[in-house]
Amino acid sequence: MIVLKFGGTSVGSLENIKKVAAIVCSIKEKKIVVLSAMSGVTNTLQRISNLLLDGNIDSAKHKIDNLHIKYQGVINGLYNEKGIAKKANELINQHYNLLLSLLDTCYSSKIQKIILAQGEIISTNLFQLYLIEIKHNSKLISALDFMIIDQNNEPDSLSIKDKLLKIVSNQTKADTFITQGFICKNKNNEVDNLERGGSDYTASLIGAAVGATQIQIWTDIDGMHNNDPRYVDQTFSIEEISFDEAAELAYFGAKILHPQSIIPAMESNIPVLLKNTFKPDAKGTLIHNSANVKKIRAIAAKDKITAIKIKSYRMLMAYGFLKKIFEVFEQNETSIDMITTSEVAVSLTIDNTSRLDNIIQELDGFGKIEVDSDLSIICIAGNIAQNKKGVTAEIFNCLENIPIRMISYGGSNYNLSFLVKTSDKVAVLNLLNEGLFEQTISEKISLLN
Ligand code: ADP
Ligand code: ASP
Ligand code: MG
Repeated sequence: MIVLKFGGTSVGSLENIKKVAAIVCSIKEKKIVVLSAMSGVTNTLQRISNLLLDGNIDSAKHKIDNLHIKYQGVINGLYNEKGIAKKANELINQHYNLLLSLLDTCYSSKIQKIILAQGEIISTNLFQLYLIEIKHNSKLISALDFMIIDQNNEPDSLSIKDKLLKIVSNQTKADTFITQGFICKNKNNEVDNLERGGSDYTASLIGAAVGATQIQIWTDIDGMHNNDPRYVDQTFSIEEISFDEAAELAYFGAKILHPQSIIPAMESNIPVLLKNTFKPDAKGTLIHNSANVKKIRAIAAKDKITAIKIKSYRMLMAYGFLKKIFEVFEQNETSIDMITTSEVAVSLTIDNTSRLDNIIQELDGFGKIEVDSDLSIICIAGNIAQNKKGVTAEIFNCLENIPIRMISYGGSNYNLSFLVKTSDKVAVLNLLNEGLFEQTISEKISLLN
């Protein structure tokens, strides 16, 4: 069995939905197809939810009406058979009425999660109806019946496996299963989600649960690029990359993959193929264990980072100091991304600042606290440890004029990361692209000419 996941742009218009259907039909193996909401829909649902929170019912209703109109347009162009179009319209009306009914209820995070789930539920239903129209035998299964998260909001892999295998094995006639990315049920059996961009994670969790032979992530670009194409012009697609490198890049900001999405595939050793829905013939990127060794593979950047420095002469020769500091973060359920220490100070970074005030208050007794925000972590992934000689010089020589706040090297064999001001991020990504990939880029350009 293989798992195919199509992101928001891939199902973002009726023309694109047809392209996705063509890809799904061309793959003969038994498969589970995971779909995101149509692009922009989850953002709109998030805005509706924020408007409700602010009590701005009229604006929320206006946005719900616009969504309804958008879907009606899709239905009008997607289906030829009247009976199927009628079913699709009924479905859209049902979700429209559900959203309208929420306007009158008291806002809660439970309601917010229900609103956010509508995008994936609608896209999978519309897609399933389209497969019925083109006579491709398929079965829609609800992620809410098997995608479970535990009390720590972590996927409950055992339950997921158990429930999903039962569902799939009960459907002996179907070769194609369709399901929603992103959405799940929590420990209280309420609708919840795997956080923004979480459909990739769904696909990887499903792949691990069914023991898939491959997980394919279909998106709007031809695989993982060597640098962030949103900020750098001359980037290129990487043919293959190891799980470790991909996991570092995803965690440190390569938007093509949800930060945690690689882990289930990596743990089950299931190759992940990143493909472009709009260029299905392009090779894409294969993420697997035996990827060739490359000194510097790719660069990514993670924004909205806050650095906290704790300066204390009591740290000098004291054991147990770091433990006490870490406990403050643990108690505040805030994870630390980077850490550096000196004899008299420790600096660390966080990306979740919801408990920052508390953290600062609790750290106050340990020494002098300094907080810097609007920072970005730049992550360089590659086989960095095995090529120690010269590699750090190569990286930092490119950045002579950029102030660097923290450096982390040696924690993982596959990552060197450092902290800069977010205002320097684009310059840093471009300088590194020129300095580290110039030769590869000119080779690729000469191959094209
Ligand atoms: P989907 O909706 O299919 O999940 P996303 O928008 O989440 O797609 O991810 C694809 C986007 O990720 C690309 O369009 C690209 O702009 C961005 N991206 C950021 N870094 C990288 C990278 N290193 N390689 C490829 N794409 C990247
Ligand atoms: N639709 C969700 C989002 O926009 C999940 C996803 O697309 O992966 O975040
Ligand atoms: Mg995505």
